Amino acid sequence: MSNATTRFRPAPMTAFERQSSPTECQHCGRVELRRTVKVTDGDAVLWLGTGCAAKAMGVGLTEYRREAKAVQDAAEAAEQAARDAADRAKHAAWVAFLDRAAPPATIHTDFGPRKASVGERIKALGGMTSARAMFDAEREEREAADFLAAHANDYASLCDAE
Ligand SMILES: [Zn+2]
Repeated sequence: MSNATTRFRPAPMTAFERQSSPTECQHCGRVELRRTVKVTDGDAVLWLGTGCAAKAMGVGLTEYRREAKAVQDAAEAAEQAARDAADRAKHAAWVAFLDRAAPPATIHTDFGPRKASVGERIKALGGMTSARAMFDAEREEREAADFLAAHANDYASLCDAE
């Protein structure tokens, strides 16, 4: 702990942590608690009974619960936003892949030229299964290259240490 005035605050819990929190309070040592809650001073993380958690924060139980809920709600909203962003990024990558692998060709029909539909472009790649396999292979290759680039220095220092 950095100093005496450091205040604990509720720390967000994962779904797994909420289901299986420790049953012992790390402040008073009471055991067989139905549940404990996670608090942090920004450095250390402690699992405490709710009474001790409120005391560690210097607030009453109601105030503690209000703050804990606000922290938890904010963390879950941030997680959802991250999942949404990942979904959007994945979709954008898929669209970019299709544009690259099967650019919208012009199809000449009796009614004049038109652009190939997404379905027709996927068909040109051998169907959805084949197109997804190409997309996944490309992504894995890129991720492997990114990983190696990001960790190039780790490997360099490993070699130096030997
Ligand atoms: Zn306690």
